[in-house]
Amino acid sequence: MDKQRDFVLRTIEERGVKFVRLWFTDVVGTLKSVAIAPAEVEGAFTEGIGFDGSAIEGLSRTYESDLLAYPDPTTFQTLPWRGDIDPTARMFCDITTPDGEPAVADPRNVLKRTLARAADRGFTFYTHPEIEFYLLKSSKFGPEGPQPVDSAGYFDNVPGGTAHDFRRRSVRMLEDLGISVEFSHHEAGPGQNEIDLRYADALTTADNIMTFRTVIKEVAIEQGVYATFMPKPFSQFPGSGMHTHLSLFEGDANAFYEAGSQYQLSKIGRHFIAGLLRHAHEISAVTNQFVNSYKRLWGGDEAPSFVCWGHNNRSALVRVPLYKPNKGQSARVEYRAIDSAANPYLAFSLLLAAGMKGIEEGYELPAEAEDDVWALTDSERRALGYSPLPASLDHAIEFMENSELVAETLGEQVYNYVLANKRAEWRDYRTQVTPFELQRNVEIL
Ligand code: GLU
Ligand code: MG
Ligand code: MG
Repeated sequence: MDKQRDFVLRTIEERGVKFVRLWFTDVVGTLKSVAIAPAEVEGAFTEGIGFDGSAIEGLSRTYESDLLAYPDPTTFQTLPWRGDIDPTARMFCDITTPDGEPAVADPRNVLKRTLARAADRGFTFYTHPEIEFYLLKSSKFGPEGPQPVDSAGYFDNVPGGTAHDFRRRSVRMLEDLGISVEFSHHEAGPGQNEIDLRYADALTTADNIMTFRTVIKEVAIEQGVYATFMPKPFSQFPGSGMHTHLSLFEGDANAFYEAGSQYQLSKIGRHFIAGLLRHAHEISAVTNQFVNSYKRLWGGDEAPSFVCWGHNNRSALVRVPLYKPNKGQSARVEYRAIDSAANPYLAFSLLLAAGMKGIEEGYELPAEAEDDVWALTDSERRALGYSPLPASLDHAIEFMENSELVAETLGEQVYNYVLANKRAEWRDYRTQVTPFELQRNVEIL
């Protein structure tokens, strides 16, 4: 740690860094930032930087509002979009109470706690997200709704289009920030893009997703467009998911891999998937946290709506992707419900906890879904045991209210905060009379 701190202090001096931003995340998943002068950094490492936690969504109760932010030196990076004039760097922070205890409601701490539990059983958790988002002409729009920047589709190569320049610039910036990108392409919706980050341990990935969202927003501003991670900005086009590939390692060995078994999937892998399926409903209010999230899971557009797994079956909630036979290390499972607006720290905590529960309790994996589950009838799906994912936020809240797994993993304070916050969102939504109702009803009723 000391070596890393020294490295940060030296780099600040050598590169003439003028501002250091301390980053952390609130319970909803919004990035928070406070800039300090280079001279303050050494003190921040040893004594933390104090702030009023009660002003941050979900972070502390008002009667225990003082919190400290301790920068994590391993996350030091200079910010490429700030340029060479007055170079600016950032570090992610761990939040503590004034007596040095990790703050129970710091999402990064929730993930660290969950990872430590898995580590006690010998597992390291890796994730690899495929992040989808829309590029719009502007965040402002009239009655015709948001306008995408192009009318291209899946994998389209748009000559002279905004998307190419946008992706090139973003990928370059991400690489400059030490974030490796695997793929980037135009997605199915007009103006919709996807960038896939290379797999890394889940804490690094969660930090990377927070950085990613900022980079994408910054590049969009630079190019005069607007980027949104809203799960479903258009009724008529697919939503933006964040399919996440998950794997567990025991030392250097991929614990999901077993040569010769069905799909080369080990027993541990099968139990892990069984855990994801059994707990999918109760973790939904976190993996899909907004009213709008459930508009994406309507039952098509490659977004899952039924709880089942399959091998290369894009209608399933969990998919075991194909990989090259000599690449056992890449054995993984893809969770397809989570969307691009989730708080990655909390969502990854719950995905890991659900999978670990499956392993600990030895849950049996049900038979795989071989059909397109959207094309089946309700009674066929019922007969096959594919239950629907929550169809709306209030439905998801109900499942979460009854979940020991979610309460235990998030801790009481975050659990209660998320529930209260989501209930309030649902209440506000319920009171809306929508254009849909007006169009359907006003003239005939
Ligand atoms: N946009 C789809 C979703 O909402 C995913 C498309 C894909 O398979 O990449 O999940
Ligand atoms: Mg995609
Ligand atoms: Mg995918």
